[in-house]
Amino acid sequence: MVSNVGHGNKEVISGILDQVKELSFAHTSQFRNRPQEEYASLISEITPPALDYVYFLSGGSEANETAIKMARQYFIEKGKPSKYKVIGRWSSYHGNTLGTLSAGGHVKRRMAYTPLLIDFPHIDSPDWYRNPDADPIYYADLLEAEIKRQGEEQVAAFMLEPVTGTSNAASCSPSVYYQRIREICDQYDVLLICDEVMSGFGRTGKYFASEHFGFIPDLITGGKGISGGYAPLAAVIVKDSIFKTFFEGSGQFSHGHTYIGNPVSMQAGLMVLKYLRKYDVVEHVSEIGKYLLSELQNVKTTSDIIGDVRGLGLMIGVEFVADQENKTPFPPEAKLAEKVKKVCFENGLIVYPGSGHINGDQGDTVLIAPPFVITKEEVDELVGKFAESVNEIS
Ligand code: PLP
Repeated sequence: MVSNVGHGNKEVISGILDQVKELSFAHTSQFRNRPQEEYASLISEITPPALDYVYFLSGGSEANETAIKMARQYFIEKGKPSKYKVIGRWSSYHGNTLGTLSAGGHVKRRMAYTPLLIDFPHIDSPDWYRNPDADPIYYADLLEAEIKRQGEEQVAAFMLEPVTGTSNAASCSPSVYYQRIREICDQYDVLLICDEVMSGFGRTGKYFASEHFGFIPDLITGGKGISGGYAPLAAVIVKDSIFKTFFEGSGQFSHGHTYIGNPVSMQAGLMVLKYLRKYDVVEHVSEIGKYLLSELQNVKTTSDIIGDVRGLGLMIGVEFVADQENKTPFPPEAKLAEKVKKVCFENGLIVYPGSGHINGDQGDTVLIAPPFVITKEEVDELVGKFAESVNEIS
């Protein structure tokens, strides 16, 4: 999920070394730096039109926290200071800081901290595995109902993962769902924040997962693999009109961390993005991802504990069930996803265990998210190890 261009990537390493020799730190409150500006320009070439501003951070939680604060400041500047609430979705994870835990719906990760959290509302999201005939518009309209319940003058933003990660691995909805969400946000002057910390920067076979579904968010957050793991890095990509509101109002976005725009991290991100473009890596993700998905779906036909295999590009989710016909999950005490992780690891394969959709976060899933540079032979090796591990558990 992070080491997108592989370990020991010579082009990326050599660019980073050059940068370390030239300049390793300069606080952005006093200095601009070359890789930051070059990287921001390059990002604006891959983002949807009119999302040309980028604010850099060190991790996904920081990026989402920042996006929430941007939404808040935007409405203050616009003369609508009562708008501050962020509506999130159950079964979504946006980070481990207090603001992002509040917007997120990951029940287990929120539990100990509930007294510290902001009481942001949440709506349910569809479970397409258990309810394939669900009406996407019904689920999108839950947002409208929640905005009305809260009062539109209170709601600043809606935050979602276009393809879910930690909860309900690699699940996504038909395009009409996202397009209706976009309409509702426009109607009620609510900013749409797309958390693409996992799904962005090429992981799903397009630079941003939202491109698959034909809608344009107001803010997109990215993290994890954007620097290929060579330096801590995350980003908030922001609609021009939002930054224009800051510039024409108070003059700036009032926020900051010591390491924003760190030149070494900037160079790492820049080198990774240049690499993706130079070698058409995102196209490769799309193609090889289809092969990986179909091979894992073949594993499902020979297993009695795999209920579903789904995903886009190289972001694949596998859901395990005790009873395939009734889609009954394993009891929580079976800790099935953890067991799969352990056995896979013993067999030389890293998978990311998570929960399903039921009751917030019951059920067992794993994410399979190999580096973008994986070859067909390596996919075969991965699938072989996965099949072997699942058979050991069955
Ligand atoms: N958002 C999503 C969708 C994530 O998957 C994660 C991490 O798993 C985060 C946010 C938080 O990112 P970080 O762990 O870099 O703070």
